[in-house]
Amino acid sequence: MPEPLSPASSGLNALLAGLAGYDAQAVPVAQAQHIIRQFVVPAVTSADAEKLSVRNALDRILAEDIVSGIDVPAYDNSAMDGYALHGGDLPGAQPVILKIAGIAYAGRTFNGEVRRGECLRIMTGAVLPAGLDTVIPQELVQDASAEAITVVAGKVKPGDNRRLKGEDLAAGKIALAKGKILRPADLGLLASVGIAEVAVRRRLRVAFFSTGDELRSVGETLDEGCVYDSNRYTLYGMLMRLGCEVIDMGVVRDEPASLQAAFRSACRSADAIITSGGVSVGAADYTRQMMAEMGDVAFWGIKMRPGRPMAFGKISSAGESGPSSAYLFGLPGNPVAVMVSFYFFVRDALLRIAGANPAPLLTVRASSASTIRKRPGRTEYQRGIVSTAEDGGLQVKITGAQGSGILRSMAEANCMVVLHEEQADIAAGDQLDIVLFDSLL
Ligand code: AMP
Ligand code: MG
Repeated sequence: MPEPLSPASSGLNALLAGLAGYDAQAVPVAQAQHIIRQFVVPAVTSADAEKLSVRNALDRILAEDIVSGIDVPAYDNSAMDGYALHGGDLPGAQPVILKIAGIAYAGRTFNGEVRRGECLRIMTGAVLPAGLDTVIPQELVQDASAEAITVVAGKVKPGDNRRLKGEDLAAGKIALAKGKILRPADLGLLASVGIAEVAVRRRLRVAFFSTGDELRSVGETLDEGCVYDSNRYTLYGMLMRLGCEVIDMGVVRDEPASLQAAFRSACRSADAIITSGGVSVGAADYTRQMMAEMGDVAFWGIKMRPGRPMAFGKISSAGESGPSSAYLFGLPGNPVAVMVSFYFFVRDALLRIAGANPAPLLTVRASSASTIRKRPGRTEYQRGIVSTAEDGGLQVKITGAQGSGILRSMAEANCMVVLHEEQADIAAGDQLDIVLFDSLL
């Protein structure tokens, strides 16, 4: 386990200086993830929440605990279409005949009385009258006429097929906790307690730009030696899936004045800044220099592939309307490295900065379809296609060439294969950890 850090307020480089065994040029993935998690705090707080109707709150982050004002269900009721009875009337060895005292429908109250030795024809969701604690589904009764049913032993036990008052949610209890990202089930849960509007945190504002004089934006002519900027498109997609408000600042020229202006503007308008390109060691450009000048930024060589170089920290700018700052994620330029760094470092951090309480990424195991070369000492993220094998288990195939610029193989993949730092060559049939793209949002 990486050692714990002191609170984020002391500044990133101050924290890192005190970290035993820390080597900025050989940071293990787990250590980088740990440092980032320790350093980020929510920039979006409950104070800047907005009220939204439940449907509009889908995928948003809850800004307050939701306490149920009612019991759900509000009364004991039947889970089946059948006959409600007194549990004490269930048969021993001999079948029993129970007289039908009436019929109860969902949404209509049955006002009669059901005595011992009697039962009540009941529909799913109908209120169970006091004393009736068991429901026998209609297909399990031996004989049924309009007047009586015959019940034989062993079909139900006392208490079966009854939904208890408050079993879904009890009045006064927290139904959904602050920080939860609202999914379809949560919308239903809110509706089930009669809530029409909820307070959600404002969307996280994330500014991003690309650096590199070889980059051209879509729509421009592709001059010799140039490439189209694809990172702003993958970043857009990943940020939108996370529920962020995006500020696309385009391609920023690799010279001090433009970079400074871009960082200043991003600090004012965004909670976090993502750049791509220009953070490699020894790069002949000004991106690193400007990041170092304007912020408290660590430049890392992470023991991983793809995506070794990365800058992380905070950028500040003293504007006319007071100082402003934003978290910075300086990602490498290679298109696959951008996506991998985003998924394994940035995603979790942005959710935290947005005020969410993210669950750790879920890895599942799949057997490798082939041998894979792997050097111990760094984490490798390979692009995989997982499918169900003949034996019913999961099998994962690597999508051909794994160069960090080959975006096509990322588009073909449906998962990332995580080859851990200590792992060496993989044999066909070995179990591997994978992260499904669908679980990355
Ligand atoms: P860098 O990290 O700036 O050295 O860039 C590494 C590689 O990624 C170079 O081949 C760049 O041309 C490429 N690259 C950098 N930024 C982008 C981008 N926004 N879109 C596509 N390729 C990029
Ligand atoms: Mg570059």
